[in-house]
Amino acid sequence: MKKIFILGSTGSIGQNALELIRNNRDKYKVVGLSGYKNIELLKEQIKEFEPSYIYIADKNMADTIIQEFDCLKCVASENNGLADLAKNMDYDIILTAVSGAIGIDATVEAIKRNKIIALANKETMVAAGTCINALLRLHPEAKIIPVDSEHSAIFQSLQGFRKEDVNKIIITASGGTFRGKKTEDLTKITVKEALKHPNWSMGKKITIDSSTLVNKGLEVIEAHELFNVDYDNIEVVVHPQSVVHSMVEYKDGSVIAQMGIPDMKTPILYSFTYPEKEFNTSIGFLDFRKFSNLTFEEPDRETFKGINLAYKAGKIGGTMPAVFNAANEVAVELFLNEKIKFLDIYKIIEEAMNEHETINFTANNTLEEIENNLTTIKFVDKTTRDKVRKKWEK
Ligand code: NDP
Ligand code: MG
Repeated sequence: MKKIFILGSTGSIGQNALELIRNNRDKYKVVGLSGYKNIELLKEQIKEFEPSYIYIADKNMADTIIQEFDCLKCVASENNGLADLAKNMDYDIILTAVSGAIGIDATVEAIKRNKIIALANKETMVAAGTCINALLRLHPEAKIIPVDSEHSAIFQSLQGFRKEDVNKIIITASGGTFRGKKTEDLTKITVKEALKHPNWSMGKKITIDSSTLVNKGLEVIEAHELFNVDYDNIEVVVHPQSVVHSMVEYKDGSVIAQMGIPDMKTPILYSFTYPEKEFNTSIGFLDFRKFSNLTFEEPDRETFKGINLAYKAGKIGGTMPAVFNAANEVAVELFLNEKIKFLDIYKIIEEAMNEHETINFTANNTLEEIENNLTTIKFVDKTTRDKVRKKWEK
């Protein structure tokens, strides 16, 4: 029986994970859950899965909810609540499925305890990948299993081969809702239009990121950090059918791809069962006769600037990826609240990067050095958010 703690259980990834567990109660036990604003759904989940501990942001709500459910031994709230649970509670696997850089501290605490981290929260690797990798070197028993579908595909395509034989990583992209459109077509995009994704049903933030292709940019940095591959050896290719989830090209010219129907339950389940593969009734099988037309094309990097901005941030390194991420997080929030236009998202990221002089990390070998560097990242993250808000929040 594997004990699972789900950060962000009320979100899209969290709900998919619970559906997998619902179908396999003999193999998995939900020990912890976390929500943020969707308290009603969190309560339903507590009733159904009877976890021992949960996180909710609101302190007053925490005090009342613990009275309501007998199963609950601990309800954490406020700023450090997620990290406190990751640090102190009992679990085998932590699924980090909150959205945004808020997931960093809990991941750090889980690594320190040599846990398995099923990592959906890509912003953690983008903003703090260097520190996370340094921490993993101090805790070789801890393991990150990627949940992002592209990274799960790359991770699987690397199994059984030698790292030094890799030529390049090829990340596939659906191309987003606005594939084929030009800058002049994007000036009046509404929130409703941007929230329609052709292939994947996801949370609002990542759906907007997909429409700007910033998501693909975040994934390029995430791949660089997870697989230690140079940016020049990471390629993005648009594949609108989203059946090939990503590929690895080896030196002999052979390409290993991972395919499947576009359903996040597949990579989530693999992160629970790694290195094994398991049948789950909630996952379907690919019928190749229905996918006879798989196409690949170059992304339009001029219109969708998210990819190039990410390569730039990644290659500069240091704190620049954290700035790219923080500026984007605030920009997406402002767009969702109809405070800015769609194309302002690129403007905000570009401006934040231009105004930031990257801080390179000091040696990253001891826990103290890593923690100092994490403090620097958090400082840069906060100042970037404050600056963007001050200028654009009307
Ligand atoms: P959702 O927006 O659907 O869910 C986010 C979850 O995080 C919810 O449980 C939400 O709580 C919680 N949350 C939001 N803000 C905070 C906060 N400040 N403090 C604590 N909890 C918070 O996101 P997704 O499930 O779509 O994505 C989650 C992560 O997984 C992201 O990093 C995303 O990039 C990544 N990912 C998602 C994929 C997908 O298919 N959805 C695919 C690949 C990666 P509440 O709802 O109660 O407010
Ligand atoms: Mg992805």
